[in-house]
Formats: sequence, C-alpha cells, structure tokens
Amino acid sequence: MSQLELDNVTKVFDDSSGTIVAVEELDLNIDDGEFVVFVGPSGCGKSTTLRMVSGLETITDGEIRLAGQRINEQSPKDRDIAMVFQSYALYPHKTVRGNMAYGLQLSTDLDDQEINRRVEEAADMMGIEDLLDQKPASLSGGQQQRVATGRAIVREPAVFLFDEPLSNLDAKLRKHMRTELARIHSEVGITTIYVTHDQEEAMTMADRIVILNDGSLQQVGTPKQVYYEPNNRFVADFIGSPSMNFLDVKLDRDGTGTGAGTLVSDEVNYKLSDGMVGNLDDVDSDLILGVRPENIRIEAGAAPEKSIEATVDVVEVIGSDNFIYLDLAGQEFRVRTPSEIEPEEGETVTLTFDEENIHLFDARTGDALV
Ligand code: ATP
Repeated sequence: MSQLELDNVTKVFDDSSGTIVAVEELDLNIDDGEFVVFVGPSGCGKSTTLRMVSGLETITDGEIRLAGQRINEQSPKDRDIAMVFQSYALYPHKTVRGNMAYGLQLSTDLDDQEINRRVEEAADMMGIEDLLDQKPASLSGGQQQRVATGRAIVREPAVFLFDEPLSNLDAKLRKHMRTELARIHSEVGITTIYVTHDQEEAMTMADRIVILNDGSLQQVGTPKQVYYEPNNRFVADFIGSPSMNFLDVKLDRDGTGTGAGTLVSDEVNYKLSDGMVGNLDDVDSDLILGVRPENIRIEAGAAPEKSIEATVDVVEVIGSDNFIYLDLAGQEFRVRTPSEIEPEEGETVTLTFDEENIHLFDARTGDALV
C-alpha cells in the first residue's frame, strides 16, 4: 500500500469569471519516504493539488488517503502533514526558537524539554543553531528558508509539502539549498511532495517527477524516464534545457516491408534506418520529429539521404560544450556540440541525428510513437 494515495482527485473553482477545472481526475500513489516533485507551467494545478493534500483547499471529487485512511474531511491540523510555503510564513514577533516551537506547543502535549530537544535537533540539522534567539526580520532569505524548513521538521510529520520553497532566493543559494534539502530528506526519510515550476530543480531533486499541464497529469516517472521516454510532446518540450527541437514532418513509408521510411517536409528529407518505423504501420503519416540538442551532430560529408542543412545563427561557448543556434528554414534549431566543433556564424552546415534517440509524436494528439 502506498503511503499517500490520490484517487481521481478533482478540483473545480466556481467564481465570477466562470468555472475552472484546476485539477482533473488525478491518480497518484506516493510511497513511504519518496521525494516526489510536481512540475509544470504556471496555472497547471500544482499548488492546488498540494493545498488539497494539506487540507487548505477542499476536494471537489475523488479521495485522498494517508496510510490507507481517507483524509478529505480532516482539518489541516489533524493531518499528519507539514507544509513549507514560498513566503516562509514566519511569525515576525517570535524568535526563531519560538517560531519552531509554536506548532508543537499548539498541537501536541509534549513538555517544554522535549519541544526544546526537537527544536535544537532540527536547528542543528538545518545549521541555524546560532540564530535561535533572533527574530525573522534580522535573517537573510536563505536563513528564513531554513527556519521554515526546521519548523516543519520538528513536527516529525508523515508527509512534508513544499510549495516553491526556493523561489525567493538568488540562483546560487537556490542551488545550494537544493542540495541541503536533498540531504535533509535522506537524513529524515520523510515522504515529500515538492512543487516547482523549474524543471531543472525537479530533475535534480526528485525520486519521481509528476508533470502536470492544464490540470491534467502528463507523466509520472523518474527523472531519466521523463527525459528519455517522454509520453508526449508536452513532456518532451518541458523537460530539458535547451529544450528539444521539433519539426513537422510526414512519414513516407517506402513500402518494401523492411520497416524503413523517410521523414519528409519542405526542408527535410531524412531516411530512417530499417526497422525504425516498423511499429508505425497503423499511425497517421503526420508526425512531429523531436530531437534533443545533444543528439544532433554537425558533420561534414554526411550521407545526403540522412542529413539536413541549416545555417548557423549564434555559437554560444559555455566552456565544456558549445550551444549552437541554427536557422532551419526559418525555425530555430538548437544543437549542443563538444567545444572543438565551432562553426562560423552564417555558415551552412549539415546535421545528422542519433537515430536511436529521436522521438516521433502523433501530430494530432502529441502522443509519443517512438
Ligand atoms: P503557479 O506556478 O503559477 O503557482 P500552479 O500550477 O500552482 O501555478 P494553481 O495555483 O494550482 O496553479 O492554479 C490552477 C488553476 O486554478 C489556475 O487556473 C488558477 O487560476 C485557478 N485557481 C487557483 N486558485 C483559485 C481560486 N481560489 N479561485 C479560482 N481559481 C483558482
């Protein structure tokens, strides 16, 4: 049995501007100790889902279970769940110690000594022992973030919820705190749901990533699964930076029965290897070709039936690699190459693909075919 189960969970908001389905029939099982990251663009339903789990938002339809027990009707304080907000939500007049102790004083009958022990243990874990007697206003953003996390840790909840906890920090501190939170998670092993709109944060922190768009689940998987085996074009586009390249093509089956075929458009005539299209016999011929920047080669002398021409717009040197931005018949194409491959801006180059890593999507549904 999973520790946290979302069963057909739906949230509909009715307000003056109409009805909004913020989350639609979401099914998700989260195991004990898992670190799950919800990711997706603004408005996709991440926070609403988290708020339904925490009890801050009612559930329109479906059921949420914690350790097998339905919690739909439980008030937030009765759920064994602690939430860390983007705004930290610290009490300004209380010291760090007071902030961290307050939840335990309110909701448990632990004595002062035990509360103090837990506060000091969490402070030690978060590296804020020296700040316990300070007020939040005198702390930096990163320190306030640690206090907010420490306050959740002292409760020793069954589940942690984080709603974009690092988005108020600068880029360097954000990266550092990612590592810190991952370390804390491995120390305390508490089941965690973490919301972010930053796919890189999701990729680096998650055991499993849950990708949402427009209130509906797109894919659940490990970082590698969602990167290498995206379910659909949306996931393929959302995960990875620079993002995957897409081209509208038609599949011209060669009819020899070898499973070979050619991807064709005004700009492209790219013969796929035998067998590549063997399982595409029944699909529509309108496809979208997807290929990641690191799976494209810039090559001289490539076989003409397996190459595409493009013009170099910009070469971005990042040290270990180059990012090369190309114009392929008016469309931007991004290629990542080793640093020694540095074509001239304006030069026409020939591209080939690592065929085992290309993706083909149904142009109508966006579903992955290969
Ligand atoms: P962001 O990253 O911008 O926080 P999100 O993925 O967390 O976005 P939600 O905040 O869950 O998205 O919102 C999902 C949808 O529900 C949006 O269309 C939003 O406008 C709508 N919504 C959220 N809260 C309410 C509310 N209280 N009343 C009406 N609509 C709401």
